[in-house]
Amino acid sequence: LMGYPDRATVCVSSQAGCGMACPFCATGQGGLERNLSTAEIVEQVRQAAAAVRDGALGSPARLSNVVFMGMGEPLANYKRVVAALRRITAPAPDGLGISARGVTVSTVGLVPAIDKLADEGLPVTLAVSLHTPDDELRDTLVPVNTRWKVAEVLGAARRYAQATGRRISIEYALIRDVNDQPWRADLLGKLLRQELGAKRVHVNLIPLNPTPGSAWDASPRRRQDEFVRRVDAAGIACTVRDTRGQEIAAACGQLAATGD
Ligand code: SF4
Repeated sequence: LMGYPDRATVCVSSQAGCGMACPFCATGQGGLERNLSTAEIVEQVRQAAAAVRDGALGSPARLSNVVFMGMGEPLANYKRVVAALRRITAPAPDGLGISARGVTVSTVGLVPAIDKLADEGLPVTLAVSLHTPDDELRDTLVPVNTRWKVAEVLGAARRYAQATGRRISIEYALIRDVNDQPWRADLLGKLLRQELGAKRVHVNLIPLNPTPGSAWDASPRRRQDEFVRRVDAAGIACTVRDTRGQEIAAACGQLAATGD
């Protein structure tokens, strides 16, 4: 649960574990345990909404945002996630009454599922975990890229933006000396302009939350600033995400189950 001056956000999981095997992510190392049920997904939001209402973030407030960025690949548990989205966004008393505009579904880029979601009539925000603009590196960072390449993923994102009128979020975990080079920032800006258009996309840079015992590290601050500057220079909005979950190792995609 995260509180900001103008909103309250909860980050939810769609699976126990994750089968996408991204090497920099703690959750990915354990593989997929199981899909969460619709009820289990909705319950995470219901509990958060009750906590916010009861003043968990200071004074009583309303839960305004739900992000599917916890454990799991939401579009790999498609039916249950879409059923949960309908419950979350339906007006009370049947649903939780949260505006679809406040809901974000994050995916590594399962192209057929993105196209299907575009036809559901649910104008939720789509976040694509791109992490690099070139196929060669993405094949290793996000292994599902060997199935759907960067160009195909961005094509699906463009169709999603056209169908829903929503801006696409591009998620990019900055990893020191892996994907944080200036030329990659230039390529990212150019590609997004070409494939999506400057008005349809926003880049969220996420300083990597280092997993204990891992060789991957966050980019230094100067690298990060230079990356933002270059993407911006291509006319693409780019910001560094506030990683408040860091102290509990629950930043996006890095919510590993600990203990038993
Ligand atoms: S980064 Fe996301 S998609 Fe990749 S393994 Fe981790 S939880 Fe799964």
